Amino acid sequence: MYTYESLLAAITPTSGETREVRDPATDELIGTAPVQTVEELEAAIDRAAAAQKSWAALPDAERVAYLHKAADAIKENAEALAELLSREQGKPLNGPNARFEVGGSEVWTRAAADTPLPVEVIVDDETGRAEMHYRPIGVVGAISPWNWPMMISIWQIAPSLRMGNTVVIKPAETTTLSVLALVHVINEVLPEGVLNLVAGKGSVVGAALTRSPKIGKIMFTGSTPVGKGIIEASADNVTRLTLELGGNDAGIVLPDVDPAAIAEGLFWGGFINTGQTCAALKRLYVHDDVYDDVVKHLVEFAKNVPMGVGLDENNVLGPLQNPAQFKVVDELVKAAKDSGATIALGGDPDYDAPGNFYPTTIVTDIDPHNPLVIEEQFGPALPIIRYSDLDEVIELANELEVGLGSSVWSSDRSKALDVAARLEAGTTWINSHGGLHPMVPFGGAKQSGYGREFGVEGLKAVSVPHVISG
Ligand code: NAP
Ligand code: MG
Repeated sequence: MYTYESLLAAITPTSGETREVRDPATDELIGTAPVQTVEELEAAIDRAAAAQKSWAALPDAERVAYLHKAADAIKENAEALAELLSREQGKPLNGPNARFEVGGSEVWTRAAADTPLPVEVIVDDETGRAEMHYRPIGVVGAISPWNWPMMISIWQIAPSLRMGNTVVIKPAETTTLSVLALVHVINEVLPEGVLNLVAGKGSVVGAALTRSPKIGKIMFTGSTPVGKGIIEASADNVTRLTLELGGNDAGIVLPDVDPAAIAEGLFWGGFINTGQTCAALKRLYVHDDVYDDVVKHLVEFAKNVPMGVGLDENNVLGPLQNPAQFKVVDELVKAAKDSGATIALGGDPDYDAPGNFYPTTIVTDIDPHNPLVIEEQFGPALPIIRYSDLDEVIELANELEVGLGSSVWSSDRSKALDVAARLEAGTTWINSHGGLHPMVPFGGAKQSGYGREFGVEGLKAVSVPHVISG
């Protein structure tokens, strides 16, 4: 079992180019991360390719057992992993944050192991027999982002391994150590070469991974512009893709809600991981009848949620992970302010304080086409838009090019279902926002991407369907 110190020591590079890693809450130096080359990437792909045939040849039950061992290893080292994640990513240990993310990594690994995907008999009658088998693709290239670096990496790794693929993963540059530590812990129980990590710049090793003819499938989670580049890169080799891209989720509050009762759910829907969550509430449309009350209760709740250094057990909101993201949020809120919108809470960062802290911010009476509404702010700044006409608000919710999640809030389930049916999104939650389940398929509509993760759909997505007919 590792401590934080021994885990960090085990993953600290001893040669090659490195970069400094700083705690986004304090700016303190916490370690060094490798910056690897395309040659090192190619060697990793070759190791993965060499290991793939024997990994795929194992009986399914053996791969399942390996995944459970990997989950056990995550569990055993959970506290060290959570501390490293908290220091590098910034998210607090407590609340739906670092410990929660490490726990989720364990749970999703076990779910990928335990989901059955038997041979499907498609036709079996006088016309003949056709069976659908799910074969491994080969080597899967995984590229993960910095907001939920461990859990999203696991979403890519665990199903791929289960289906007999081997993996080369490229973590986001700003959360390299977290994924390196996770992979290190898992690799102590997996056979050599099955799971490989290459750290380096997205535009260099990430791009080379997506162009490699030895990669059969790319699992990508990140921004829509990078995703579009990956689609182009995939053309030469007809590389399969699962793309989990950007979002800008709408929530619609109907006039029949109890504002006090929904405030907590709205808060965590929008501010989980300090707003750095792909499927978080990013635009809240509230009916005029309840607008003032919903704002009042949400602000009351939000102002008491502690934000600060992740290792302080009291905090449940943290800093922005990197200065670039701080700048995005800061500029969008400034533009909203300049446009005449009301800052109901926050909007006043202390630029001189250490870390990338942006306070919990709620912006009201804002134009529905203000940039804070229509661009993905990916931080703790929620615009609340007033509406009175249901058809108009559904049009506003659907007018963007992205469609990851969405939510409807109402005390009348059938009314909520009617609205949900009209929303363009991969998921619509009712009276909550953003909850994920390892058996419920997750993914985007429109430019939020294609392909589904989790459950049986997720296993199928990392395999080649092969029909045996006759
Ligand atoms: P990003 O800039 O697109 O980066 C994502 C990953 O792609 C990183 O590992 C990055 O490496 C790598 N990358 C960058 N350029 C590349 C290229 N040319 N070729 C291949 N890989 C490349 O996204 P981010 O800023 O880290 O993450 C935030 C975004 O992710 C938001 O838009 C958010 O909505 C989205 N997201 C979506 C989901 C979902 O499930 N739909 C989940 C989480 C996040 P470097 O870090 O080295 O640049
Ligand atoms: Mg980036």
